[in-house]
Amino acid sequence: MSIYPTRMPALFIGHGSPMNTLEQNRYTRAWRHIGENLPRPRAVLCISAHWYIETTALTTMAHPRTIHDFYGFPQPLFDFTYPAPGLPGLIDEVAELARPQRIIADPDQWGLDHGTWSVLAHMFPAADIPVVQLSLDARQPFDYHLELGAKLAPLRHAGVLILSSGNIVHNLRRLHWDQPEAGAPWAQRFDEAVAALMRDAPADLPSVRAHADYAMAVPTPDHFLPLLYTAGLAAAVPNSVSTLVHGYALGGLSMTSYGVEFVGHGRPDEQT
Ligand code: ZN
Repeated sequence: MSIYPTRMPALFIGHGSPMNTLEQNRYTRAWRHIGENLPRPRAVLCISAHWYIETTALTTMAHPRTIHDFYGFPQPLFDFTYPAPGLPGLIDEVAELARPQRIIADPDQWGLDHGTWSVLAHMFPAADIPVVQLSLDARQPFDYHLELGAKLAPLRHAGVLILSSGNIVHNLRRLHWDQPEAGAPWAQRFDEAVAALMRDAPADLPSVRAHADYAMAVPTPDHFLPLLYTAGLAAAVPNSVSTLVHGYALGGLSMTSYGVEFVGHGRPDEQT
């Protein structure tokens, strides 16, 4: 019998700007609230938009480094570290679940990127829960990511928090820096279409590529793909998806976040 009596929720978090790491705002307060309302995980498996490579890999280092995968931000962001340990043994469980797909062990190449640590800095500020990252395989179609997410479901029974980190709408060419809370009409239309699918038919999420605003909202797939893992997990449990955060930033970003079987006290984005 599992020593973990409850299923760990699964999460998709819209992470937005790396500066969220250092800021306190409506989104970071929501992430902190989510962390406070989760059972303590044995480990976090993070699927970050920022590890988008030509294979499916899992980090296996005992001490993943903090990767500062951006430029042009203030020095305090480059000085930030998130010293959570890794969990090298988790590769055996993940590889077994993924079969016949192969998961490559990464003992020394990646680490934790800001898709992971900008969120975990608030969700688990003590950095004392082991964290591994699963890469996004850029060669694969949407269905591959949805199906791989579904295959990871047994990890939820083994104390692992599956945390997907991206942005449902992510068009950096359409940002308006003078509109911090704004969402363009096309961004809102696409975000709402995704919301309907997540609520009613998460297994059909790949069909959103046919949406009229898809090309504008998802100019490159990297920030959207993590949501497919959450959708794959949600598809197995009817009516399991709740909206944890709803909002937009800078016109061209959606900060909307979802939970699968998340049980909290109040809406995380309405915390003060
Ligand atoms: Zn990002």
